[in-house]
Amino acid sequence: MICVLTGGTGGAKFVDGLRQVMPPEEITMIVNTGDDLLWWGLYVSPDIDSITYVLSGLLSRERGWGVKGDTFLCLQAMGQLGEPTWFHTGDRDLAMHLLRSRLLAEGKTLSEATTAISDKLGVKARILPMSDSRVETRVDTPSGELSFEEYFVQRWYQDPVKSVRFAGATDAEAAPGVIDAILSADAVIIAPSNPVTSIGPILAVPGIREALRSARGKVAAVSPIIGNAPVAGPAGILMTAQGLPCSIAGVAKAYEDFLDLLVCDARDARAAETLRKNGLRVQCAQTIMRTSDDRMALARTVLAHTISGLRPEESNQSSADKSARAAADQP
Ligand code: GDP
Repeated sequence: MICVLTGGTGGAKFVDGLRQVMPPEEITMIVNTGDDLLWWGLYVSPDIDSITYVLSGLLSRERGWGVKGDTFLCLQAMGQLGEPTWFHTGDRDLAMHLLRSRLLAEGKTLSEATTAISDKLGVKARILPMSDSRVETRVDTPSGELSFEEYFVQRWYQDPVKSVRFAGATDAEAAPGVIDAILSADAVIIAPSNPVTSIGPILAVPGIREALRSARGKVAAVSPIIGNAPVAGPAGILMTAQGLPCSIAGVAKAYEDFLDLLVCDARDARAAETLRKNGLRVQCAQTIMRTSDDRMALARTVLAHTISGLRPEESNQSSADKSARAAADQP
């Protein structure tokens, strides 16, 4: 079994590669829900939607989100009724939000609703929300605190960012199956997702970081940063706001207390050497996923370097070493 922590478009591309190079029923996805929002009264979970669509073959490759070939007639009609239209939901996509909202209103948890929907779409991999409790990513800007979707979609991530917090995280519990999936996986992979707002909320749920430190399989991360910039999106701005350099060193720092292997782009060979000198295993590869072949090749590379062996018997010791190293680095 492989466990993948993921969120957003970079993660969805990586998972698309993974599902094509290994049996999907052997993959468990733990998905960010910090971006979830109520839109037109419906419960929308953008990252769970993207992963569900990618695993059922419905994802629009051009857009990287939503359903392929979708139309936007409802959006148009809502605009005519004076409703907000900045968050684009396609007509077919709405079916997902309608059904999830009904299941939640009937008393199902987000995990149960997610399983019910993914089963109906024939998804063989397991999709777990990070938590059934509400954890909201809040972005603090000079204009006030914004939800992630307000910051990212409505305002095109133009606001300077002061900090990011995950409201509700301290009281949240990991969803059923999450901790066990991490602890028992043959390998845990952190997808090339935004370390602050896609992986950060998952790590903020109590117990998940600790589980990653004690995982029996190796924990690998694929860097969403190449050189000193993200491949796309605001990861660089958000990392800087959180005191992390926008580089593979920043990605390594975000995950330093549990990371066994960092997979970075071949263009970062020199920075990789520096990280290796500090004791981290780093594998350089072609990490830009333009084509389906790119996605599969990256998935194969990551699997080849993680699945080959579990952490050594003295893994508790090596985890303790990592925690000590992380603690010593704190300012
Ligand atoms: P957001 O767009 O910043 O909210 O972040 P997401 O978690 O949705 O995923 C986008 C992240 O994936 C960004 O940080 C990108 O740099 C990264 N990303 C997107 N496409 C690729 C790719 O082809 N290769 C790699 N390595 N990273 C990618």
